[in-house]
Order: sequence, then structure tokens, then C-alpha cells
Amino acid sequence: MTRKVSIFGATGSVGQSTLDLIRRDRDAYDVVALTANSDLDSLAALARESGAKVAVIGQERLYGALKEALAGTGIEAAAGEQALVDVAGAGADWTMAAIVGCAGLRPTMAALKAGGTVALANKESLVSAGGLMMAAAGVSGTTLLPVDSEHNAIFQCLAGSSLEDVARITLTASGGPFRTRSRAEMADITPAQAVAHPNWSMGAKISVDSATMMNKGLELIEAAHLFPVGLDRIEILVHPQSVIHSMVEYRDRSTLAQLGSPDMRIPIAHALAWPQRIATPCQPLDLARIGRLDFEAPDQDRFPALRLTREAAAAGGAMPAILNAANEAAVAAFLGGRIGFLDIAMIVEEVLNRYSAPTPSTIEDVLAADAGARAVAGDVMERLTV
Ligand code: NAD
Ligand code: MG
Repeated sequence: MTRKVSIFGATGSVGQSTLDLIRRDRDAYDVVALTANSDLDSLAALARESGAKVAVIGQERLYGALKEALAGTGIEAAAGEQALVDVAGAGADWTMAAIVGCAGLRPTMAALKAGGTVALANKESLVSAGGLMMAAAGVSGTTLLPVDSEHNAIFQCLAGSSLEDVARITLTASGGPFRTRSRAEMADITPAQAVAHPNWSMGAKISVDSATMMNKGLELIEAAHLFPVGLDRIEILVHPQSVIHSMVEYRDRSTLAQLGSPDMRIPIAHALAWPQRIATPCQPLDLARIGRLDFEAPDQDRFPALRLTREAAAAGGAMPAILNAANEAAVAAFLGGRIGFLDIAMIVEEVLNRYSAPTPSTIEDVLAADAGARAVAGDVMERLTV
């Protein structure tokens, strides 16, 4: 039976890895919709090559150009945020949610409401609106499969076990490119240095998050929604080789770990085939060559994002959405050369101290908190850069 698949964020790192797997077994999949924000040429090429039914570009002004690029192909063109939401109902039974940032919230939520299976890479939406998203998936009966390598590992280690039997979940972290640097040595880190991750090849935003370790903090919040064992049972362990992707310890003190090469196509393939397995072109794990696996405790003093995320998670309400929005704004400013590397966590902390919003009960509430936090982050940054 062919699987009808849609990919939100098809032009990105996760989106392209998903298409790479689909390309290798073309007869097994029908591509329904592919989406992108502004990379029109890449979107049109991927839509043509995969035989997609619909291609959606986020930027409304690019509608005409997309239509032109798809002329004569029979592929429908659409544009704008509402089109991204509407296409979630276009009939896919498996959707990859791989838009980066809170921009993915509405489309991801629409996919969760549409039913079928949602493979979730877009962690920022879960950080900002986890309670609402998990509830929506419950109501529609959507199967939510985590794609983030750590959460996919935990899902595999849980293998359907009861969360009541779980004593501890350990999220492993590579520690990023600056794992061994002092704070003083982090001050003049450039965007190019920050996006060069030692083990993983990823989009720019998540690469910066890995360098500040904000990524691991966001993943803590993500894990708390996907696997509600309580925050005090989720810990972070630095493991520089990125071979163990995470672990679950049960109450009998048996610990299960999932291992693999650091290649996102492995967790994506797991979500694509679940509950079965498919072959991937990924490197087999060669532990004799790797030789050793190292572990160390994370350092919250050098990586304050770890502390801030745990505090925001414990506070709950709108705090995780505020933290995420402040971080998105700060990372964009860092990548744009407007602020320094150490300013990112400082700005997030300042926004968390200065801004609050009521506990969201709708997606609109989440987006209002997100917008409010971005405005305050803008003020803080303006003060920094004058
Ligand atoms: P990326 O920057 O490579 O790609 C992002 C995709 O989202 C692109 O297709 C882009 O066009 C689209 N997009 C960006 N802004 C948009 C907007 N405003 N509206 C609509 N579409 C928009 O990012 P990525 O590295 O592929 O990451 C995607 C998501 O997956 C992120 O949430 C990230 O945290 C998560 N993730 C990524 C990896 C990885 O290895 N890259 C691993 C784990 C989790
Ligand atoms: Mg991850």
C-alpha cells in the first residue's frame, strides 16, 4: 500500500532528509504536499521531482513566481500562512512537521487535527504549545511520532512500556562545538563558528541552539510533553560522540539506550516506517572504530540556557512560549551579526524576567505571548546595540 505523505519545511535539512528516504523507494509513497517559506526554486524542483500534488510557499508575494515555476506540471501552487494550514487537510496519512520555529505552530496543529500520523521535528511548536498540541492529538486520534533524535530514541527505548515503570529519562547532548570553552572564550564566537556542529549537519537555527545548549533545554521541555514522567525524572547528560541518542531507566534499574550514527535519516526512517522498519543508506555503527564513549555532567554556569529552560518548564503557563520566542529573536539577531554569542541567553533571561503572559488556552494566546516576548526581546537588543 502506498503511503500518502506531506512534508512541511521540505526544503530544510530535515525535509530534504525525508525526501531522500522517499526517493529511494518511490513506489511506496505518494507525495501530497511540500511546503517552504521563501526558497521557491528549491521547492519547485522538489515538487516536480517528487510528483507532489500541491506546493505551498509561505511568502504570499511569491505566489505568481511559484505558479510560473510549476506551469505545465499539473502541480497546484498555493501561498501564504493560511494555505500552509489548509494543506494539512489535503489528504496525507503521514505528515512530516519540519518547519523551523514557532512559525510551524499553526500548520503543525492543523496536521495534528487532521489525523493520521504526524512525525514531529518542529520542537519549537511543542515547547510553546505542548499542552494544546498533545490534547489536539488525543482528540483527533493522531499518532504523534517524535523525530528529534533524542525523543525518537526515548520512544524506541520505551517500546510501549508504561511511564509508571520509568525511573528516569536521560537526554544525551553532544555539548555542541564549544563544550570545552570557558565563558571568556565564548565571547567572540562568530555565526560561522556556531553553526559548525561537530557531529550533526542541521539548519542554522538549531545549530546555534546546539552551541548555546538551548537546544537541549528545548528538548527537555519537548520530552516533558511527549513523555510526562515529571521534570525531575528527566536529566541531561553530555556525551560528546553522539552515539547514544538517549536512554530510559526503568524502576528495576534496567537502562535501555538507543544507538546509531548521527544521521537524521535514522530517526526519520523510524517514523516513516513505524511500526515496521525500512532499510536506510546510513552508516552502520562501528563501535570498534569509535573506541570509547564519554560522558560528563552538563555545566549550567557556562551554558545558562540549561538553567533558564528548566526554570521556564517548571513555571509552565506561557513561560516556555516566551522563552522560545525570545530565543528565536536572539538567535536571528546573532546570525544577522547584530548581537554576540553570549548575549543570546542573557536576552532570553531578561525577557523571562520582564515579560509574562496569561496561561494560554488557545493557539492565539500562545501566539500573543510569542509576539509580546519578541517585542520585549527587540527592546532589550536595541539597548544592547546602541
Ligand atoms: P531548516 O532551517 O534547514 O529548514 C526549515 C524549513 O522550514 C525550510 O523548509 C523553510 O523553508 C521552512 N520555514 C522556515 N520559516 C518558515 C516560515 N516562517 N513559514 C513556513 N515555513 C518556514 O531547519 P531544520 O534544521 O530542518 O529544522 C527543522 C525543525 O526540525 C526545527 O524545529 C528543528 O529544531 C528540528 N530538528 C532538526 C534537526 C536537524 O538535524 N536539522 C534535528 C532535530 C530536530
Ligand atoms: Mg535533538
